[in-house]
Amino acid sequence: MPEQKIIIIGAGLAGSLLAIYLAKKDFRVEVYEARPDMRNAEISAGRSINLALSDRGIAALKEVGMDEYMLREAIPMLGRNIHPLTGETRLLPYSGRQGEYINSVSRAGLNVALMNEADMHDRVRFFFGQKCVGFDCRTGEALIENAETGEKTSLKGDTLIATDGGGSAVRDSILHGVPRFNFSQTFLEHGYKELHIPPAPDGGFMMEENALHIWPRHQFMMIALPNIGGSFTCTLFLAHECRNANGSERALLVQNGGNAGRSERALSSFDQLTSEQTLFEFFNTHFPDAVPMMPTLADDFFTNPTGSLGTIKCFPWNVGGRALLLGDSAHAVVPFYGQGMNCAFEDCRVLDSLIDKHGADWETVFTEYGSARKINTDAIADMAEENFYEMRDAVADPVFVRKRELETKLEQTYPDYFSKYSMVTFREDMPYSVAKEKGNAQDRLLMEICADVENVSAIDLNYVMELTRGIPTN
Ligand SMILES: Cc1cc2nc3c(=O)[nH]c(=O)nc-3n(C[C@H](O)[C@H](O)[C@H](O)COP(=O)(O)OP(=O)(O)OC[C@H]3O[C@@H](n4cnc5c(N)ncnc54)[C@H](O)[C@@H]3O)c2cc1C
Repeated sequence: MPEQKIIIIGAGLAGSLLAIYLAKKDFRVEVYEARPDMRNAEISAGRSINLALSDRGIAALKEVGMDEYMLREAIPMLGRNIHPLTGETRLLPYSGRQGEYINSVSRAGLNVALMNEADMHDRVRFFFGQKCVGFDCRTGEALIENAETGEKTSLKGDTLIATDGGGSAVRDSILHGVPRFNFSQTFLEHGYKELHIPPAPDGGFMMEENALHIWPRHQFMMIALPNIGGSFTCTLFLAHECRNANGSERALLVQNGGNAGRSERALSSFDQLTSEQTLFEFFNTHFPDAVPMMPTLADDFFTNPTGSLGTIKCFPWNVGGRALLLGDSAHAVVPFYGQGMNCAFEDCRVLDSLIDKHGADWETVFTEYGSARKINTDAIADMAEENFYEMRDAVADPVFVRKRELETKLEQTYPDYFSKYSMVTFREDMPYSVAKEKGNAQDRLLMEICADVENVSAIDLNYVMELTRGIPTN
């Protein structure tokens, strides 16, 4: 077979990993990235500073020999450390089994490591400051604009894979160039802002290092992931506007502690936090334990952008054998399961196995890939949205806390018990769609059981286990 050239658009997490996979199969790979080379330029990797890497992502990194390196650079997070408004923090382990945890990694660190590894292959070439501004669905040509000169060039390979993220330019061209292309984008009313907790004066961590911290406050929440070096990156998830999409004012009323029966309107959206006074009023009310650890809160808050959170679904992902959408360009999800990148890495793994099966018959590879993958990316998109409500509301609900306790006991006692979270996060052998179906049925059952008892020790584990084993997995 003559040597094939594959064009990748976007050198983010998925594009850089995919370049390694394809180079290992002896394809010639050209990667066009809109931004400058982050290895030379002082730029952030874009959105979030750190990410949770879990088993599906690790499985893909393992296939290209990068898992051990990345895990050495990661901080294990063993569970969710819940910060209630009053009282002690408590750790809810992610799993009752040893060795099942997620890992906080630097987005930029991971991206750079993947690019460096891809660069070790002679067959891979990166082109930075080269933005794709169009794709011709009929000919398979991509139009690339040089960021410095504005000059535009047409390129064509044997095929093209678009890993240009949630705002994909290639997907935009497909939307206008392919009849009956299905596309939907739904935004949450909530956006996000990154904030910072520095290391303690002695260089250590100011909070528990091996945990993902959560401040669940029903209408909004804050989370924090640890970084190597002792700091934490916090993300505040909050409604963009105090008015709902239908124009009515968001009804967040708080009971006024000293005046029983009297309520007052509370700050509950980004558009209300316009001054240091409102910002500190909001933080002192809802995150009083965090404020003393955030000396640069006001600076961070007013300097850092407010990001939007959305789900993108579209199909088909392939244009004949001429192009394929992969990663966020095909299926951006909200970040509440910590799976967007893990799912994009699993995409690369599945695609690689189909190339093993069909070689460079791109139309067959891409069609089979879409059939295998769509049901699963839809499932993780749905679970990610549902998990927003779980993290925001349920972790503060006593029935949910008992349910997590019961699940931890089940996982400690029975090797074949997996919570929905564990199926998604630690079972890279289980498709997301199966995890969703079985996990939801299991959740309903366990919540019912826990609603009826005050104490988890009153529950007959054997009986529960028998019931969960009866839940079908297809
Ligand atoms: C706040 C937040 C937290 C998250 N946390 C997690 C987490 O904990 N765990 C997890 O698994 N996932 C997480 N995610 C999701 C994760 O970031 C994405 O799923 C992942 O980055 C997708 O990788 P990608 O390569 O498809 O897209 P991206 O990482 O977005 O990469 C796209 C690349 O394409 C480039 N590009 C864009 N347009 C063009 C163009 N026209 N021409 C050329 N290049 C272009 C971009 O510059 C970028 O380098 C989070 C997301 C957010 C927003």
